[in-house]
Amino acid sequence: MLVRQYIDELYERNDLEEEKLLYILDYIQKEEIGYLQKKALQTKEKYYGKKIYLRALIEFTNYCKRECRYCGINRYNTQVERYRLSEEEILKACQRAKELGFHTFVLQGGEDVYFRDEILVDLVKKIKERFPEFALTLSVGERPYESYQKLKEVGVDRFLLRHETIIPEMYKKLHPQSELQTRLDCLESLKSLGYQIGAGFMVGLPGYENKDYVKDLLFLKHLSPHMTGIGPFIPHHDTELRNEKAGSVEKTIIILALVRLLLPKVLLPATTALGTVSEDGRLRGFASGANVVMPNVTPPEFRDKYALYNGKKNTGDEAAEGLRQTCEMIRKNNYEVDMGRGDSKVKY
Ligand code: SAH
Repeated sequence: MLVRQYIDELYERNDLEEEKLLYILDYIQKEEIGYLQKKALQTKEKYYGKKIYLRALIEFTNYCKRECRYCGINRYNTQVERYRLSEEEILKACQRAKELGFHTFVLQGGEDVYFRDEILVDLVKKIKERFPEFALTLSVGERPYESYQKLKEVGVDRFLLRHETIIPEMYKKLHPQSELQTRLDCLESLKSLGYQIGAGFMVGLPGYENKDYVKDLLFLKHLSPHMTGIGPFIPHHDTELRNEKAGSVEKTIIILALVRLLLPKVLLPATTALGTVSEDGRLRGFASGANVVMPNVTPPEFRDKYALYNGKKNTGDEAAEGLRQTCEMIRKNNYEVDMGRGDSKVKY
């Protein structure tokens, strides 16, 4: 009974005390998950109606200097074949995305030292010149304030940088050579520079407990990002976490629904990882209030190499085919496809 009461309270207030959030996570039963999702979906529909926003994802490099123990493209993985798209290949992928009807690109990659400011700024300028009507999102990890500033000046609109976990010891365990505080400082820099920012974390990391998710949720509430990327952790066979269990769809959709209720206007992707752990994962994400999907427009010959985890959904098809399937899935389930810029409704 209390679980429903707390869900109602969260729905009314878009906020909830730590103990009550923990109570929901500890005691929620199957029937109540449906109720939680219903409330989350109602909340999403208040602001976004039936719309699902589509963003074109370009995975432009898998070189990475970082040590993230969960990630298949971390610097220590010698098995992965590294690639870096040339400027021409990136612009071609953008052009393809344009022809397909997108109005936003997400350029994601490892922390590739090749892309020093000069090079990245130059690339962004070219993209913004050729595709002025597009919103441009970068997801390229941690950089100094001045670097984020230069990129903002040449027109980058949004930046995705998941905080990964708000528990310092856990952060250290997963990234032995890095500090959580640095990542949080990056998010603050991005926010103060006027980017639309995205934070987020994985569900089901080894050793993660409900009380830890509650801290992540409250951190997100406090940060109030425009976007929140949340997906299940999935082991990768070349990492130290290869024998760990993947995060579940159930847990992920509960967390997604809680995020939607805490941050009613947030842009919330049904992630590729969610679609990978289960055939209907992304649909169940939509039912929890997710409202974004990022179809992959990376040239097919590179996609397998951007393997953050095992079994990453990769139709191997040309971008158009992946887009067609995604649109069909959305429409068949009575949502609407929106390929506009889809700017955030979160305002500071
Ligand atoms: N280098 C960029 C982009 C990282 S990849 C950055 O640091 O922000 C995007 C996200 O994929 C990561 O933030 C992480 O949360 C997620 N990811 C990495 N490895 C994963 C795995 N094994 N399972 C699920 N998600 C993973």
